[in-house]
Amino acid sequence: MRDKLLGAAAGRPLLVVAALTIVLLLIFLSGATRNLPLDLLTRSYSAPEEGPQNCSSASPIEPAKDKLLGGLLSPAFDEPSCLSRYQSALFWKSSNHTPSPFLLQKLRSYEALHKRCGPHTDLYNKSIEQLRSNRSTGPLECNYVVWLQSGGLGNRLMSLISTFLYAILNNRVLLLSVPDDLHDMFCEPFPGTSWALPWDFPIKKLETHDFYRGSPQSYGNLLKNKVLSNGMNTTLASLPAYLYLHLMHDADDSDKMFYCEDAQPLFQSFPWLFLRSNQYFAPSLFLMSQYNDELQKLFPEKETVFHHLGRYLVHPANSVWGYVTRYYEAYLANAKERVGIQVRNFPNAPVKLELMLDQVVNCTLKEKILPDIEVEVPANLTTSGVKPKAVLVTSLQTGYFEKLRNMYYEHSSTTGDAIGVYQPSHEELQRTENQNHNTKALAEMYLLSFSDVLVTTAFSTFGYVAQGLGGLRPWMVLRPDNQNPPCRRALSMEPCFHFASAYDCKAGRNIDKGTVVPHVKHCEDLDFRWGLKLFD
Ligand code: GDP
Repeated sequence: MRDKLLGAAAGRPLLVVAALTIVLLLIFLSGATRNLPLDLLTRSYSAPEEGPQNCSSASPIEPAKDKLLGGLLSPAFDEPSCLSRYQSALFWKSSNHTPSPFLLQKLRSYEALHKRCGPHTDLYNKSIEQLRSNRSTGPLECNYVVWLQSGGLGNRLMSLISTFLYAILNNRVLLLSVPDDLHDMFCEPFPGTSWALPWDFPIKKLETHDFYRGSPQSYGNLLKNKVLSNGMNTTLASLPAYLYLHLMHDADDSDKMFYCEDAQPLFQSFPWLFLRSNQYFAPSLFLMSQYNDELQKLFPEKETVFHHLGRYLVHPANSVWGYVTRYYEAYLANAKERVGIQVRNFPNAPVKLELMLDQVVNCTLKEKILPDIEVEVPANLTTSGVKPKAVLVTSLQTGYFEKLRNMYYEHSSTTGDAIGVYQPSHEELQRTENQNHNTKALAEMYLLSFSDVLVTTAFSTFGYVAQGLGGLRPWMVLRPDNQNPPCRRALSMEPCFHFASAYDCKAGRNIDKGTVVPHVKHCEDLDFRWGLKLFD
């Protein structure tokens, strides 16, 4: 009996330790992990083997973050070489969007294809021989689409994701002509190979030489000069070795024939396609019947195209990730809620700072994203002890941030919340040719994507990247006018394809492309009623 009692008493410390361990584990698994210092997160974090666990909104405990994003990411990478790849999941709100098994299968088989056909493999060398031969031989075992940059970082990421979707639908290998100003900013997304066009690629000067609107090798130009026709009766020997696709905002009517489903079989004759775009042209692929079945299986949820492919492809290199994590830990980690506000003033359609600021403030107050301020000094000035709300402002200018910060510094909020307002940089001017400038842009897109609530500027691709990565439907601040509200909620987290073609190839005339299928409709960015976007 005494032994038993002693045994029970001796067991008590063990029980206490076990209970403490469970409590600590629950704290770690709960949403509180987003507030833990980063080094604690990285030291103690290990992901579950399985896909994401079910997240019940009734449960106060968030599920453990799944570092492979439901199987989207391959586990085959060396983690320290690219910390963002497996750490990003810790910072994003848990996603309700699970990638489809078909998408996962497709990505794994794409990775195998890329490894087989990647730079300097035997099959790549064979395809290079064809390119050097200066004539088309028809499709080879390895066929490529080479991405060429254009525009700011947001625009570049729009076209990159669209080009990757085009590549996987056509079993092509995606290679990037990486401009100097993006060097070493992104991690390699495909294991055991590279997506960068190698230095010894036979066509030099990709940026200036052959690839511009109306250039001799452009599809539009060859179509106009009847060297090509979409029906493809042309003999292979008469075809050029490669084709340039000009899918920029300024594409002419012939270039835009790319969006005709009848044109697609012709492209299969070319092992090498070079594609330049500053657009999110993914929605147009949903209007081509030959891709319907596959797209349906890849993306049963239509509005997750950028969300999944962006999270799969875009991993900031460690140097950029340092900016992200340092800033997050210093200013955002301790907040009870994070609100991201991205203000873009377009140089070719400028809006006065005061007017745009009014739009932002009116939007955040009207939609109860931020609390109003007390005009009178409140009688009770004791602190609430509640964690502050953090507002992350990103903009090239500093004025919006200063006004918001002063507003909540000089007045108390009606809710009693303390509001911390922060801005990581104000670069004043867009300087896309400068790598350090682009590093900040990428870091800020990522920081915005960690928001609980996101406010963006309508029409800005910078904001689209943040919303897509974060899986957020933002409040889009509209250009000020007397008729529209200051902002409206996006109904889909997808980016907008701004300069979509209205041409209906079968009918031979322009039509309203926003009414052809239920999941491709006009964007909510009111100014751009002709833009197209994917919706569920
Ligand atoms: P868009 O022009 O708004 O569609 O976005 P882009 O990203 O294509 O081009 C704007 C570019 O300006 C960015 O890539 C950055 O180089 C710069 N920029 C604009 N807004 C910001 C900002 O809030 N923060 C930083 N760091 N850069 C910005």
